[in-house]
Parts: sequence; C-alpha cells; structure tokens
Amino acid sequence: YDDRDGKIWMDGKLVEWRDAQVHILTHGLHYASSVFEGERCYGGKIFKGVEHSKRLKRSANLLDFEIPYTVEEIEAAKYAMLEANGWTDAYVRAIAWRGAGPDMGVSASRNPVRLAVAGWEWGNYYGDAKMKGAKLALSKWKRPSPETIPSEAKAAGLYMICTMSKHEAEAKGCSDAMMLDYRGYVAEATGANVFFVKDGEVHTPLPDCFLNGLTRQTVVGMLKERGITVHERHIMPEELEGFEQCWLTGTAAEVTPVGQIGDFTFEVGALTRDIAESYEALVRS
Ligand code: PMP
Repeated sequence: YDDRDGKIWMDGKLVEWRDAQVHILTHGLHYASSVFEGERCYGGKIFKGVEHSKRLKRSANLLDFEIPYTVEEIEAAKYAMLEANGWTDAYVRAIAWRGAGPDMGVSASRNPVRLAVAGWEWGNYYGDAKMKGAKLALSKWKRPSPETIPSEAKAAGLYMICTMSKHEAEAKGCSDAMMLDYRGYVAEATGANVFFVKDGEVHTPLPDCFLNGLTRQTVVGMLKERGITVHERHIMPEELEGFEQCWLTGTAAEVTPVGQIGDFTFEVGALTRDIAESYEALVRS
C-alpha cells in the first residue's frame, strides 16, 4: 500500500506517496506521541476544515507538544495535497507526531514535531449496508477516565483499545463495537459517536471522557433546529432495550443507522433517515 503513485504533504512540502516514510526511531511510534484528524472533502471543500485543524493543534497541546504550523498553514497543506492528487472528494488525514531525535526515551522534548497530510478516496465507512443499519458488538474495553489520559484529544494512544474492540467485533460478524466508559455508561463506537431515539426525543451520551465529535455537534444542532429535545446525559447499557432508533456520527461514518448492538435491535426510522439525508445535503451545500 505504501508503494504507489500519489502525493503526500510532509513537513512543509509535497513528496511522492512512496517517499513519505519515517525513521524506525520515531518517538511517536514507540510512545504514541501522535495526534491526528480525519476529515472529508466534498466537492472541493473540506467540511469544517478549520475546526479540524484547530482540534489537531489542541490535541497536540493536550499531549504537551506544539505543532509548528498555524491553522492557516495546515489548511493550505490540505488543499495542496488534494489538488496535487486531483481529488475533490476524499478523506483527509492530518497527523502530527514527535519524530526521531536526541531523546529516545520517554522524555522527548528535544525531538522535532512533524506534520503530514495525506488523503485517500473512501466511500461508505460501513460499506454498502450503510442505510440498512449497522450491527455492533459490545466491547469489553472501557473508555478511560479523563484523569487517566487526555481523553478529549484525538490521540493515537487512545485508539489501541478501539482497534482491539473492532477486531473482536468483526470476528463476530459485526461492523463495529460499542464501548462503555470506565463507569459503565454507554460511550461511543470505536470511531464514531452514538445517538438514540425514544418517544420522539433524542438521547446521546455526555462526552465527558471521549471525543465530542464535530459531526456529533453538527447533528445536535440539526436536531435542535427541528425543535427536537436532545438529552445529553449518562446512559446505562440496560437502557438500550427501550430505545427505538440508533445512529452513529463521525467524519468517516457520517450518519450511519444502527440496527443492532449486542442483543438489542433498533429500526431505521424516519428521524434516522431524515438526519442522515440532511447531513449529506449539508456537507455538500
Ligand atoms: N469518536 C472517535 C473515537 C472517533 O475516532 C471519531 C472520529 N474522529 C469520532 C468520535 C467522531 O468525531 P468527528 O465527528 O469529529 O469525526
């Protein structure tokens, strides 16, 4: 996969896809000093690009490092990468990490901070079954407390349990895993936030120990515009039984209906369809 044509922006310039390599003594590889963003470009415009760049810089600060580029420079890098590849519709992956340097232990304050922006063409995150309702397994891994790790950062280290959870779910024939948090409340999927519908009202976990996704915030706004009550609160897994509809939100997932989580089933109802279609229209407007 690394040996192909294409361009990647790396440390200030566009390089050939196959040359976008890092050294084996990269600090981020050994100690997870790495933060990233996932964004989508629709018709030549990145949806909430500036917000993603700001989050990237904030994530780095939460991990105690500073990305040596401004938000404007990061924006320019993304569009330069897209243009060099001839893409108007693509997924954009910006990543910043502590590189190889004089310190190869836990401490790495003298190592350079590096930034790259890559992209690829990526259709539906959950494949063709998207509007039929994804099937999720319950994960045994719990989202950690914000006192354990800076859980509001989009940091590579937070994804270790996500990959393990997703692999386990896939082995059971599911497309993703639903994770609970350290207190046992329903948290999120491995790369997307979750919403539930009951009696015409919407319930979604309070993002106090995981990413408050930009898509999540957009969808909360869409629901409120419709005059729909949104309860952002702690949700116990036992409550899943009473919810009628469920969907996931995320840059890659967009708005994906959920048909099943563990033994609990949901219908792909009118509100789910409305929000999925309206989100699609919004990102392309
Ligand atoms: N939670 C996790 C763990 C994620 O990886 C993502 C995707 N970035 C989200 C939530 C949704 O965030 P956003 O809507 O900003 O893409």
